[in-house]
Amino acid sequence: MRSIGHFVGNRQVPGASGRWGPVHDPATGELTGRVALASAAEVDTAVAAAREAARPWAAVSLARRTALLFAYRELLHARRDELARIVTAEHGKIHADALGEVARGLDVVELACGVQRELAGRVSTEVSSGVDVVSLRQPLGVVAGITPFNFPAMVPLWMFPLAVACGNAFVLKPSEKAPSAALRLAELAAEAGFPPGVLGVVNGGSEAVDRLLAHPDVAAVSFVGSTPVAEAVHRAATAYGKRVQALGGAKNHMVVLPDADLDLAADGAVGAAFGSAGERCMAVSVVVAVGDAADGLVARIAERARAVRVGPGHDPASAMGPLITAQHRDTVASYVRGARAQGAEVVVDGTGCRVPGYEGGFYLGASLLDRVTPGMDAYRDEIFGPVLCVVRAASYEEAVALVNASRWGNGAAVFTRDGGLARRFQLEVTAGMVGVNVPIPVPVAHHSFGGWKDSLFGDHHVYGEDGVRFCTRGKVVTSRWPGPAAGGVDPVFPSGG
Ligand code: NAD
Repeated sequence: MRSIGHFVGNRQVPGASGRWGPVHDPATGELTGRVALASAAEVDTAVAAAREAARPWAAVSLARRTALLFAYRELLHARRDELARIVTAEHGKIHADALGEVARGLDVVELACGVQRELAGRVSTEVSSGVDVVSLRQPLGVVAGITPFNFPAMVPLWMFPLAVACGNAFVLKPSEKAPSAALRLAELAAEAGFPPGVLGVVNGGSEAVDRLLAHPDVAAVSFVGSTPVAEAVHRAATAYGKRVQALGGAKNHMVVLPDADLDLAADGAVGAAFGSAGERCMAVSVVVAVGDAADGLVARIAERARAVRVGPGHDPASAMGPLITAQHRDTVASYVRGARAQGAEVVVDGTGCRVPGYEGGFYLGASLLDRVTPGMDAYRDEIFGPVLCVVRAASYEEAVALVNASRWGNGAAVFTRDGGLARRFQLEVTAGMVGVNVPIPVPVAHHSFGGWKDSLFGDHHVYGEDGVRFCTRGKVVTSRWPGPAAGGVDPVFPSGG
């Protein structure tokens, strides 16, 4: 069994706390490794290495930093298949989906390669006689990232490439359920030539997180995970005076209007609900079927859901892999049973799924629940599994009111042929990312990613322009270079002229 440690100062460091967490292959259920759970002292070591690296790294020329990022981009691209296999082995998602995750992470590395443009300041000349003003952005020092299990490569890549491109050092605390991809990302950064300490990985659970939040040398914390932890992280880190962006859970709604192409909508709903076994923060978990769209749409989704082939992620025939743990699989299944008891119609029941040859794996089939109402647990909670709820609404207005009453506001989509209603939806819906005939509207890297309401605590979204602002701080320099006639005391507050 593998022992998975940390990566500090550009080398592997074994766990020293004596505490470990289990790592499984969800496809087989086998225990494949144990991951070190860092003590506060081990976190301190990682932060100390980052702190030592941060100042000289900030002084490295932008040209050199960019050259390293280009080298890193090439390495990641060359190793994308290996990275995807690491993701599948610990998360379970199918290989093609894992490759997609790496590709979306690479987008952010490519954005970071162009950070020179993002960091270019603004200059105003002659704001007063002989006076110029320059606005510039400088790195914060050490930035910490805490990431979830469901995108073991992509979410870390949302964070550290831009942070280090901006001149910060970064300490990453990945999910203890799928830790190996982050370690490989850091090894490849070292191979690309990043100096020791610029990117460190410390594995662990809540003790490691608590120490990162409290550590006086950590200037900012970027968190992605479930809503209760995001809220707690935001509260704790802001109390310590840090800058925080904490992205939480979701319950993304897809509104299907009666004029929509129902085949297109059903394809979109099934891919977005059951891709990655529903373990995506941008998964569609509720379809709001408006008016007479409902019967035809439910029939089409049911047909496609029954055809979703479940199996191990490394098998190219599989369309959906296992869930992350046996416990999570059981929790997800309990929502299907609970919804039936609360009056929903279970149109497709995936809870009895068995995969021959993989009896120990954490599998569930796709489940479709119709006539779900907002009072039901399956509607209220983030299930984070392959369960799609259909809520029926009488009108566009009723549908939007339902979406906007949700405590979450990550993504929301509308399927329609009516441009006017689609435009209203864009303006009226209370979600951070909106799709029009696009079920999973994850923004490309030069736009930022982030939700509203309980899907994000803090002011900044991740990557894109917000990502650069998050990991830099502003400074404004006002300068005068006196000419021969300058001089003399002026007691008046400077007001130009
Ligand atoms: P999680 O909240 O359990 O864990 C996330 C991170 O927090 C992990 O690194 C974990 O070790 C740490 N953590 C867990 N409990 C903690 C505690 N009590 N104190 C301190 N740290 C703690 O989330 P998860 O199960 O790994 O990931 C799934 C969740 O993440 C879902 O809710 C999903 O919607 C959300 N998510 C959101 C986004 C987004 O962009 N909004 C993206 C991906 C995942």
